[in-house]
Amino acid sequence: MSADYTTMWQELGLDLEAHDGLLTVLGAAYEDVYLSQHDRPAGMSYFDFCVSEIHGLRVRELMDAKAAGRKVVGSFCLYVPEELILAVNGISVGLCSGADMGSAHSGRLLPKNTCAMIRSFVDFKLTKVCPYMEASDLVIGETTCDGKKKAYELFGQLHSTFVLEVPHTKSPAARALFRSELDRLVERLEALSEVTVTTEGLRAAIGTVNAKRAALQRLARLRAANPAPISGRDALLINQIQFYDDPVRFTGSLHTLCDELDDRAKRGAGVTPPEAPRVLVSGCPMSAPNWKVPFLLEKNGGVIVGEESCVGERGTRNLVRDTGDSRAELLDALADRYLGIDCAVFTPNEERIDHVIEMARDLRADGVLHYVIQFCTPYSMETHRVEEALRAEGLPLLKLETDYSMEDAGALETRIQAFLEMLAARGA
Ligand code: SF4
Ligand code: SF4
Repeated sequence: MSADYTTMWQELGLDLEAHDGLLTVLGAAYEDVYLSQHDRPAGMSYFDFCVSEIHGLRVRELMDAKAAGRKVVGSFCLYVPEELILAVNGISVGLCSGADMGSAHSGRLLPKNTCAMIRSFVDFKLTKVCPYMEASDLVIGETTCDGKKKAYELFGQLHSTFVLEVPHTKSPAARALFRSELDRLVERLEALSEVTVTTEGLRAAIGTVNAKRAALQRLARLRAANPAPISGRDALLINQIQFYDDPVRFTGSLHTLCDELDDRAKRGAGVTPPEAPRVLVSGCPMSAPNWKVPFLLEKNGGVIVGEESCVGERGTRNLVRDTGDSRAELLDALADRYLGIDCAVFTPNEERIDHVIEMARDLRADGVLHYVIQFCTPYSMETHRVEEALRAEGLPLLKLETDYSMEDAGALETRIQAFLEMLAARGA
């Protein structure tokens, strides 16, 4: 980090000892997982810088913005429209947590069979180690899976929280409900910020987020090249950083990187040999710093070419129509776009199955790794449907269920090695 931020962290009320511990573990993991890679694109230096300042300079920017009257709004899920936060001149930060804090704290409040993502964000709050959470003037939760919606009842006792009702079907009645929920969210954000959402302000916010998603789509398309011009780990990192970086700066830096990847693809240059098994990851999101499975897969000679995940294409593939003439029409467009997301909490959810197949084809994947966070019922239940569809396409599937701890790393690695050997033998 470029400066001493101790005073800022103290002002945020962080537990300095626990926070130091987290940063030490993070720094060591980053060295192993990221900085040890060969032939990384030069454009990754911006994203390395983002990580090095994740609890420093970026938090300083948030604090300066707050001092100037802007509001910081945290959220945990793709169904919360970032555009609405920008439209009240707010700053949107993703709070989904990908670190195992040992559950010593959340273990008192949550059942044992709670997924690692929920445990992690509750632990982050209880242990006071996340500057983004503590800087948030409001946190927006959602009624997606049962675990999350019940966890927000606990979380809401500790932090100012708004819960957005997300329906579980895509019927006209469900769409009407979600649309009315966006009105309720607008009201809350306007009250918080004392800024009115105008047609122009909302259109500009939609433009900013569309541009960011278009840049992420460009990155996704470039990964279809063989050899892959960028590792899956680096692409995942970029998708994780988009949840907390300034969107305009992020978009510019990502296009610079994509120009470089474009050039690599044209020259046939890549990060792995062309015969490296190409794997699509599908399933639960991998929030920073959850890099375990991608690291194990790529250190054993495979390359991840796409993520059918919320930290990946599920969150970026659809843009919002920006053609409405009124605020209501733009809110309609937001409702349509956000209800198009194919999370496993919806039923039926055929679009997701089709999307996995489409991505595997477009990205020329040799196989799919279906990733489920232990105790996540929605994604665990959908595994079977994904498996059936892939079998019909003749594509091998590796099903992994894990949490954030490193205890099972050896067992996972053995299964990943066997999967990669099988893919290599099929391609030989
Ligand atoms: S998996 Fe579903 S509930 Fe979880 S962040 Fe993604 S969209 Fe939200
Ligand atoms: S991983 Fe599954 S159980 Fe955990 S928060 Fe996401 S949808 Fe809910």
